[in-house]
Amino acid sequence: TQIMSRGLPKQKPIEGVKQVIVVASGKGGVGKSTTAVNLALALAANDSSKAIGLLDVDVYGPSIPKMMNLKGNPELSQSNLMRPLLNYGIACMSMGFLVEENEPVVWRGLMVMSAIEKLLRQVDWGQLDYLVVDMPPGTGDVQLSVSQNIPITGAVIVSTPQDIALMDAHKGAEMFRKVHVPVLGLIQNMSVFQCPKCKHKTHIFGADGARKLAHTLGLDVLGDIPLHLNIREASDTGQPIVFSQPESDEAKAYLRIAVEV
Ligand code: ADP
Repeated sequence: TQIMSRGLPKQKPIEGVKQVIVVASGKGGVGKSTTAVNLALALAANDSSKAIGLLDVDVYGPSIPKMMNLKGNPELSQSNLMRPLLNYGIACMSMGFLVEENEPVVWRGLMVMSAIEKLLRQVDWGQLDYLVVDMPPGTGDVQLSVSQNIPITGAVIVSTPQDIALMDAHKGAEMFRKVHVPVLGLIQNMSVFQCPKCKHKTHIFGADGARKLAHTLGLDVLGDIPLHLNIREASDTGQPIVFSQPESDEAKAYLRIAVEV
């Protein structure tokens, strides 16, 4: 894909937000949203003095409302900005708060862009130390306009160790390079499955794929997250693992990654 990297539109910071971390993936279903949610919670858990926000710009498939157990429409501030919804100490904004649940978003590009503009510019975050942004999968219009509109501290790329996911993760990393967004590193999700009965470990999606890709690209691996039933159940019930089981090994994997970010 060719990206015009010269003559980028001027980036404008989001008011009140100090650092923006985007969580991206080449493919869908690799655990990007699960990672974004748990990373936001881990940043907050590691330093309780920090204010953390979570912005879901996955317009076609917003997962943050369900994972953070939030629904409803945002209230408007006096200056007509949307107030984020709050749970587990994290300020959240999502396309899912603006459309009806179970209603598919059937939009043309222009409508998507105006929704993104709204999510980037019309939210009253107050003061945030970190805003974690859950991107849509892939390297399309949304990823580009987010990268070009706001200054981004860094991008974190989530991939499974599987070749096909890694190929797309590679493209994602290249896209960020072209638009001059620093890539903080790769997170290898679903790296290993341990049988709860016999404790045997299986690399369902392959072993060290993300590590090899990171090496090729000169990137860091920020950490490995195992494929674990508790992670899936915690997300599905709106009680993310870092919040609900902070002492578990799975939560600790996210907490360690948050230190690297
Ligand atoms: P994406 O945002 O990349 O589409 P999600 O975060 O929605 O992916 O994850 C897809 C599914 O996989 C969800 O059901 C989620 O709960 C599950 N999942 C993600 N990461 C893990 C993991 N490490 N262990 C178990 N299930 C996971």
